[in-house]
Amino acid sequence: SFLSIINTEADRMNRLVKDLLQLSRIDHQQEKWSMKESNLIALLKSIIPKIELSARQKQQHLNVLFDSEAKILVMIDKDRIEQVILNILSNSIKYTNKGGRIDIDVIESSGNAKIVVSDNGIGIAESDIPRVFERFYRVDKARSRAMGGTGLGLAIARQIVEEHHGTIAIESQEGRGTTVTVALPLAIRRGQRGID
Ligand code: ATP
Ligand code: MG
Repeated sequence: SFLSIINTEADRMNRLVKDLLQLSRIDHQQEKWSMKESNLIALLKSIIPKIELSARQKQQHLNVLFDSEAKILVMIDKDRIEQVILNILSNSIKYTNKGGRIDIDVIESSGNAKIVVSDNGIGIAESDIPRVFERFYRVDKARSRAMGGTGLGLAIARQIVEEHHGTIAIESQEGRGTTVTVALPLAIRRGQRGID
């Protein structure tokens, strides 16, 4: 049992160091971005299986609401946007009780692709909402510690999304649930632009 604790803590330390190094690289414009035109729907479809197991272990219902055959083109660094979505989805799983519900949708609106993840979990008090994007900020310190992680996920997510000229927003009601919306500009499709 001691070895298992050491193993868990070593993993936590490893994630912490990686997260801090990444934030430092972004702060100093040293992060390498590989922006490519990508189908956001295909990316989301490939992410779902990676979190399905942890949702199932908590008997949570993961509802994919978008049309999985659709095509929404965005100019993104796929690995980084995957990291953002994974953090948002794993937050929903972590901060939603057993048997809860997590919905994931994508909509196109006013030149943006909006990824909307909502859960019916523990929610966030109004006064804490603006602070969750701060580095190391976690709402319930004792409970959060038991859940693992470091409180850097959303801070990194915001930096990544802003690098894509997008936005990330949280709406939440304590005891009712949370909705996170990531908006990314749609790729300008060649051949569809007027000749000037
Ligand atoms: P890490 O992402 O580094 O593993 P974390 O998940 O605790 O740790 P963030 O992803 O930055 O950190 O989230 C910050 C805090 O915001 C969380 O600790 C939690 O208190 C709150 N939070 C985030 N998402 C949700 C959610 N879906 N429901 C309730 N609270 C949330
Ligand atoms: Mg997180």
